[in-house]
Amino acid sequence: MKAEIIAVGTELLMGQIVNTNAQYISRGLADIGVGVYYQTVVGDNVDRIKETLAVAKSRADLIICTGGLGPTQDDLTKDVLAEVLGRKLVIHQPSYDYMENLFRTRGITMVESNIRQAYMLEGTDPLPNDTGLAVGNAVTQDGTHYILLPGPPKEMKPMFDTYVISWLTDRMGSVQPLFSTMMKFAGIGESFLEHALIDLIQAQTDPTIAPYAKEGEVALRLTTRAASKEQATEKLWPLEREIRTRLGDHVYASEDITLELEVLRLLTAANKTLSVAESCTGGQLSDLLTAVPGGSHSFAGGVICYTNRVKNKVLGVPMEQLEGPDAPGAVSEETARLLAENVRKLADADYALSLTGVAGPAESEGKPVGLVYVGIAERDAETEVVTLNLSGNRETIKLRASKTALYHLWK
Ligand code: ATP
Ligand code: MG
Repeated sequence: MKAEIIAVGTELLMGQIVNTNAQYISRGLADIGVGVYYQTVVGDNVDRIKETLAVAKSRADLIICTGGLGPTQDDLTKDVLAEVLGRKLVIHQPSYDYMENLFRTRGITMVESNIRQAYMLEGTDPLPNDTGLAVGNAVTQDGTHYILLPGPPKEMKPMFDTYVISWLTDRMGSVQPLFSTMMKFAGIGESFLEHALIDLIQAQTDPTIAPYAKEGEVALRLTTRAASKEQATEKLWPLEREIRTRLGDHVYASEDITLELEVLRLLTAANKTLSVAESCTGGQLSDLLTAVPGGSHSFAGGVICYTNRVKNKVLGVPMEQLEGPDAPGAVSEETARLLAENVRKLADADYALSLTGVAGPAESEGKPVGLVYVGIAERDAETEVVTLNLSGNRETIKLRASKTALYHLWK
């Protein structure tokens, strides 16, 4: 079944409210295995609502409208659908009786605009409104299912959960629900990831693969239809295994968790500690690590060595190495190495990460924006230094540098 959600309301188009109804309905439909192909928003205008319904009918078997079932002149959805389907509007007696009783006990006169909320399309299924007055509607005509829901989320959600889901599942036969799993990657960009999996992405039908990138992390969502979670796992596993064969060095989790959480988990499990020396990231890496609750078992802390003075006085990098015409400079492999080694000793930690680089917008020491050195020191082991050439603005470079440093430790 292909579904389209039409949210009606000029206030949505004007940006006054967010279309949370579409999100809620989409998620609910996914849970019962209905694919949403389109979400549309249209203003309170008869001609445009008609046009939108016509387009939706041409490409969907299920059309769910929300909004515009209320009493006022701009609430048009029911009238327009009645016209489009050639059905009369009739009173839904239980809604009418409820409303009349409510108004009587409150001593309010019921006017025609109130009564409009008790109207339904003739010969359709009413959807009771347990938290409001406007009755919803469901009908199948010429092979298309139409559902009308009120706009206010506190009315729409209970109506959807209580009445729409069962109305739909009665008509769907046995469509299987969707199951998803996340794979999280580090040390790899979104375009490289896509390039490495392009044949799988292009051939996808079931399971499907969707790449995501946000806040310095890259993820893949694998989705399939199945009768049970066990069956879904069986269907998803071969794909996950293939992806792991190609990119296993970069897969740090098969669930939606951050890299810092995974790194801290591993450190805690191994009973090891980490310290950091941050120059260009100015504490961003520490911020990531301390955002994880309970991290103090394994994150010892560190030094924000933003200036050469702190690099020298606190972390013992010789001034001749930092400054002078022939000095390697603050942004150098040598400095990254010493920062990592010395902060590790200072904190008496098992591991240390150091970051020194050019976050921009201007170059520094004649070195380009995005050049970052990451030092990885380990007790009783050789210190490693990795050179990064990152792109993006200052904020992005700081975040990418922090995440990439964690990746090299994780690796
Ligand atoms: P009412 O009886 O309140 O007029 P209605 O069914 O006619 O209900 P609308 O007039 O379209 O619905 O919207 C009423 C309110 O419901 C909006 O002001 C807004 O707060 C909320 N609303 C409407 N559509 C949406 C939507 N798509 N997502 C989130 N909230 C919505
Ligand atoms: Mg309204």
